Amino acid sequence: MSSKSIIFNFTRNELIEILTKKGFPPYLGGQIFSWVYTKHELNPDNFTNISKENRKKIGELFDFSPLKVIDSRKSVEEETEKFLLRVKNGYIETVLMKQNDYYTQCVSSQVGCKLGCKFCATGEIGFKGNLSADEIVSQVATVKKATNILPKNLVYMGMGEPLLNYENVLKSIEILSDREGYDFGIRRITISTIGILDNLKKLVNRYPNIGIAISLNAIPEKRTAIIPAERKYPIMDIINFYRENKRIARPTLEYTLMDGINSSKEDAKKLLKLLKNIRCKINLIPYNENPKLPYKTVSEETLNDFIKILFKGDNAVTVRRSKGKDILGGCGQLSGEMYD
Ligand code: SF4
Repeated sequence: MSSKSIIFNFTRNELIEILTKKGFPPYLGGQIFSWVYTKHELNPDNFTNISKENRKKIGELFDFSPLKVIDSRKSVEEETEKFLLRVKNGYIETVLMKQNDYYTQCVSSQVGCKLGCKFCATGEIGFKGNLSADEIVSQVATVKKATNILPKNLVYMGMGEPLLNYENVLKSIEILSDREGYDFGIRRITISTIGILDNLKKLVNRYPNIGIAISLNAIPEKRTAIIPAERKYPIMDIINFYRENKRIARPTLEYTLMDGINSSKEDAKKLLKLLKNIRCKINLIPYNENPKLPYKTVSEETLNDFIKILFKGDNAVTVRRSKGKDILGGCGQLSGEMYD
């Protein structure tokens, strides 16, 4: 096993500190960070503004390899590509999506997930481990190397519950948003969570403008049936938190519409009532069917009826038609399984 440290695990300040302690000049850490994250150069032999001697030493200290791409698959319309990647604890997926003239990348935060939401392919496979910060950051570096595309937006909506891997997710945000690196503005990063209140509070305290997407998916009395973690992490705690803290950037409430489960007019009316006095955006997602799961998506008619009721409220309502459904790259469809 390599004794080298993985470069993607370090913030710029950490890199500077480590190298300074080893007797290198203080600017060297910043130079390396810049090569990796702004020039996208992952071979230290090519760090031409660094002396040959130091390049050799850097190559001995750090591993610059991105993650191993096991497979990749493009959607029919070629706007979405998902990648199956090898990590320490198994396999994960990351998805690159084209939207008009820019890209958004959906990254994973865990291998599998312990929360077992009934409609989610990731929940089906159980929990195999947290991703380290470098494994999160490296998903971007790996896709950049494979496609030469650096996305504009990042969403932590892949495999796993990001707020149950809080420290590593936080560190990855610090690295990915560094202005002297990839420079993802904090508003261009969205964390999707079923609502782990303690860590959500810490996160928005640290990054008040970070995008937050709450997987609401059902009115409280119906939520446990599809999100068993509702028992431990009640959605009402999240609703009350946002009701009481109006100065925090408004969250997006994600609501996946499943036929006969959470998509009746009655559900819409109760949802409208629940979200009264909360500043939020409501994002409706017609369910992405998965052959292994019994749930069905909704008809256009059901979707329209649902929207009409929500339009009576003050909050913006959008519909997200997931991209890459044909390659099982849509929301809730990632399972980290081999592609055939
Ligand atoms: Fe985990 Fe999110 Fe899937 Fe629920 S929806 S099982 S939290 S990955």
